[in-house]
Amino acid sequence: SREVQLAARPQGAPKDSDFSMVERELGQPGAGEVLVRNLYLSVDPYMRGRMNDVKSYTPPFALNQTMTGGAVGEVIASGADGLSVGDLVLHDQGWRTHALLPAQAARKVEVHSGLSPRMYLGILGMPGLTAYAGLLEVASFKPGDVVFVSGAAGAVGSAVGQIARLKGAREVIGSAGSAAKVAHLTNVLGFDAAFNYKDSSVAKQLRQTAPDGIDVYFDNVGGDHLEAALFAFNPFGRAALCGAISQYNAAQPPSGPRNLALAIGKQLTLRGFIVSSYSHLFPQFTKDVSGWLLSGELHHDETVVEGIENTPEAFMGMLDGQNTGKMVIKL
Ligand code: NDP
Repeated sequence: SREVQLAARPQGAPKDSDFSMVERELGQPGAGEVLVRNLYLSVDPYMRGRMNDVKSYTPPFALNQTMTGGAVGEVIASGADGLSVGDLVLHDQGWRTHALLPAQAARKVEVHSGLSPRMYLGILGMPGLTAYAGLLEVASFKPGDVVFVSGAAGAVGSAVGQIARLKGAREVIGSAGSAAKVAHLTNVLGFDAAFNYKDSSVAKQLRQTAPDGIDVYFDNVGGDHLEAALFAFNPFGRAALCGAISQYNAAQPPSGPRNLALAIGKQLTLRGFIVSSYSHLFPQFTKDVSGWLLSGELHHDETVVEGIENTPEAFMGMLDGQNTGKMVIKL
């Protein structure tokens, strides 16, 4: 197997020298194990947090060990009942070309015609469930809400905006980091309005695009975006605090939002969440989202980078906004 290891803990933005490539012999699967040839790997923002040596809801990645992460692969040898050669599986041994793992750690996926195996890393997988659970449960979305989502052209954000539209939002507003992404949001994904947060103050742009205020904010970014949402909230507004990607490479803790006290007078609900606490929604999520994908009501974007050796570059590119939709690596 060709594998990517963490060679150094990144200081600020990760760089090439923080990663190294190694080769390992894996051998044949023992009883209860499968050998998988990975077809697609996922790179996700949470991985940046696990590169730091700090306590979090997931333990840090170990130095000079192969990274882990979502992957979809094909079973090429099996010592386990229930999984046979040729089966497609979803598992957590990414950042490598091959994985030897207990069959229990692999979930068989049946790919409906019209859907692709890669979708299990994106819209039909962890990021999709994050969008679905975060909007519908955490933010208690209801039809008629005005919804603002940051990171709107990414894997989670693009699903949030579209699900809000499909569920009857009065208006869906998104922010993203380039003019092309902003055009994509309104022209292809059906957002009512969008802006480029790099153009000028987020608070000012949000006030212009949502003059009557917002009811739901789905926060992927934190910092100035959260501050802007607090200003724009209508009474009893609700925020799902999903991520704070503007801070993941920061060496110092952030100073904002400086206007948090607005949450009192506006009687806001600001609620953080982790997707793994919402696995009970998985059956309904799968039914709804695959239905929308097959009917063409839900658009799924991916940015595909080829080759195991380009996995670190894909990861760094994703943190830097080079992806539209889900960033995946094709092996
Ligand atoms: P994306 O596909 O959205 O990729 C990351 C995007 O972040 C980039 O494309 C870039 O887009 C944007 N970005 C990078 N730096 C900044 C910045 N300084 N300010 C604003 N935007 C920035 O990733 P995901 O959809 O996988 O994840 C989105 C968020 O959801 C992340 O915060 C992640 O941590 C969180 N998350 C949380 C989960 C949970 O359980 N709570 C589960 C899964 C994800 P642009 O070009 O627009 O800048």
